[in-house]
Amino acid sequence: MDAFAPDRENVIQRARDAGIEALITVGSDLKSSIGSLELSRKYDFIYSSVGIHPHDAKDFTEETYKQLKEWGTKFRIQDEKLKNHESCIVHHASSPKVVAVGETGLDYHYDNSPREIQREVFRKQLELAGELGLPVIIHSRESKKDTLEILKESGINRGVMHCFSGDMDMAERVMEMGLYISIAGPVTFKNAKILGWIAKTIPDDYLLIETDAPYLAPGPLRGKRNEPAFVKHTAEKIAELRGISFEDIARITTLNAKRLFRIGGFPREGEITYKIRDSLYLNITNRCTNRCSFCVRFHSDYVKGHNLRLSDEPTEEELKAAIGDPSEYREVVFCGYGEPLLRLDIVKGLSIWIKERGGKVRINTNGHGNLIHRRNVLPELKGMVDSISVSLDAHDEETYNRICAPAFKNAFHEIILFMREAKKYIPDIQATVVEMAGVDIERCRKITDELGIKLRVRKLDVVG
Ligand code: SF4
Repeated sequence: MDAFAPDRENVIQRARDAGIEALITVGSDLKSSIGSLELSRKYDFIYSSVGIHPHDAKDFTEETYKQLKEWGTKFRIQDEKLKNHESCIVHHASSPKVVAVGETGLDYHYDNSPREIQREVFRKQLELAGELGLPVIIHSRESKKDTLEILKESGINRGVMHCFSGDMDMAERVMEMGLYISIAGPVTFKNAKILGWIAKTIPDDYLLIETDAPYLAPGPLRGKRNEPAFVKHTAEKIAELRGISFEDIARITTLNAKRLFRIGGFPREGEITYKIRDSLYLNITNRCTNRCSFCVRFHSDYVKGHNLRLSDEPTEEELKAAIGDPSEYREVVFCGYGEPLLRLDIVKGLSIWIKERGGKVRINTNGHGNLIHRRNVLPELKGMVDSISVSLDAHDEETYNRICAPAFKNAFHEIILFMREAKKYIPDIQATVVEMAGVDIERCRKITDELGIKLRVRKLDVVG
């Protein structure tokens, strides 16, 4: 873009200095697509997309289509290693790198091109993306109905709603199609109520951030020319809205960008300890005695950008080495992709070790500990565990069995007994329930009130 003509190199350097790992520069017409290709040729950490913005749809011809197709065919990244999730960043020095088709879509705010032509050009570019196997960068402004219809017809399931400005209904409908939601600088503006709510509540797995530079500089720099390094202000705001750290949001959105655009490696090994906010989580097993319908293990290897799929269960010594100094964390939490009390000895050994070093211990459990070990294990945890969080998950046995498919009979009844017993040995106890159809939260609350423990209501698909 001409806005960067005087100091483009400096802008790129500032992006690098700000810790940006990869940058996607977006084509919106033929000229900017060529510029985008050129930058991705010159810099190993810059990738390009090629496409025609709805503003310029009126100039789209058969030749334009052929040109985009030629670039996409010749320069798309086709590295088998990336498809196999190998942990490597592939740098194609001296060759352009096309990772997406776009920006394409519909803009009924400015109507710079006739709407019928915008729709036709949008359809063509979606078809091209499908043919090339590339994701699409979608612009949609005041055109919700037509955007959704065209996307649905196209069958596209890899792409991003760039600089999202729609409502929650639209966000949900595009996520159902498998598309990401990208949040830009406007989320930092004081009046961004709907966007703020969306940025706060959508699942981690669908969240991306962007600048839309040179436009839409975030709050502290509003009105100035935007540039990639400024994305940190947007990240900070989203972290604040979601109640997580800047580091968490950076990791989550970097992972999502890598997955969508296939521009880098993924962690191959599951992490045995992982940080969220200021707590450290221990991933000691992927086994569980439930098969909850909402369990993240069944559709993703990741929680808050951490790979938790273990190939082997860690030993106590490996976990100690990975924890380091437990007093550095607000608390150390036994959690992970499974039921920690399946490994009771490790939980006990590590809890003592953590407490001796000034750390605080929490266990997140499905409450099956006594069923698993066929004895009351709670007295064994006395003095080693500061808090325990038990997944109640339903208001009655029938609903619990339907949602959680437990390996034991009478599991729901036993969980209630487990919580009652836990109160005698563990200072802080809470139950959790996920908000979902068929679960009566008020009846859950009645159960926990009778037990005299807190109830935390979790949002469906929000983990960690
Ligand atoms: S209890 Fe937790 S780990 Fe086990 S299936 Fe349910 S959600 Fe997943």
